[in-house]
Amino acid sequence: MSGVGAVTLVGGGPGSLDLLTVGGLDALRRAEVVLYDRLAPHDRLQELAPDAVLVDVGKRPGHHAVAQHEIERMLVEHALDGSRVVRLKGGDSYVLGRGGEEVLACRAAGVPVRVIPGVTSATAVPAAAGIPLTHRGVSHLFTVVSGHAPLTDDEHRHLAGLGGTIVLLMGVATLPGLVAGLVRHGLDADTPVAAIERGFSPQQRTTVSTLAGIVVDAATAGVSSPAVIVIGEVVRLAADGDDAAAQTLSSAGLLGPSMEAQP
Ligand code: SAH
Repeated sequence: MSGVGAVTLVGGGPGSLDLLTVGGLDALRRAEVVLYDRLAPHDRLQELAPDAVLVDVGKRPGHHAVAQHEIERMLVEHALDGSRVVRLKGGDSYVLGRGGEEVLACRAAGVPVRVIPGVTSATAVPAAAGIPLTHRGVSHLFTVVSGHAPLTDDEHRHLAGLGGTIVLLMGVATLPGLVAGLVRHGLDADTPVAAIERGFSPQQRTTVSTLAGIVVDAATAGVSSPAVIVIGEVVRLAADGDDAAAQTLSSAGLLGPSMEAQP
């Protein structure tokens, strides 16, 4: 009888293979079963995990291909069968990734589990569009928000009052509610906003607007998931990283002189 295997949660990064960690690659190389998500880097999985059975448990917005409890059951079952199991997720498993639930399920079943952190899309996708989330003299904090469910009015108020940069994940559908809530609680309607779709893919695209304009501009451009939406003055800095964004910024009058002379 073989002993109990183990589960390794691998944060796969935002989609580009070169943003998978060395630890993640190593776990994949030794895996016997891999359960992967749609946003995890899975194009060359057969090559990276040559000995593994690959199971697509891909999640898409609005519907989970495989229910969360079923994923947890599969992880535990394969590990109890003695397999080395990798759970490959997009970004970082502990940033809006339900990694914590999977770890708890493994622990409850007596399955050894470890977590290899990944590069989260919350920071990496803005970076791919030339947007630093913090910048000396512009913003010294950022808040990562899930748009999966609408925020409460209290949360809108706190968020609007916090200052700094707001990073919205899973937020294309709920953006109108968030924008209305932030404006209602006093966030300047001229605050720049960027929506970066499909980061690190050939289809990466940045749509730049203001809090007042983003709902209409995103609808006009047909912005769709997956996208990371950045709200804050740091968006003006995108000009350095993305030619298309620079053009939009300048035609929208968002390239203030203040951005040209930062210390
Ligand atoms: N754990 C993941 C986030 C999972 S939630 C992480 O740390 O990155 C899924 C959301 O992440 C998507 O709706 C989108 O907002 C964002 N996302 C992930 N990969 C992305 C990519 N390549 N481009 C744009 N957004 C992405």
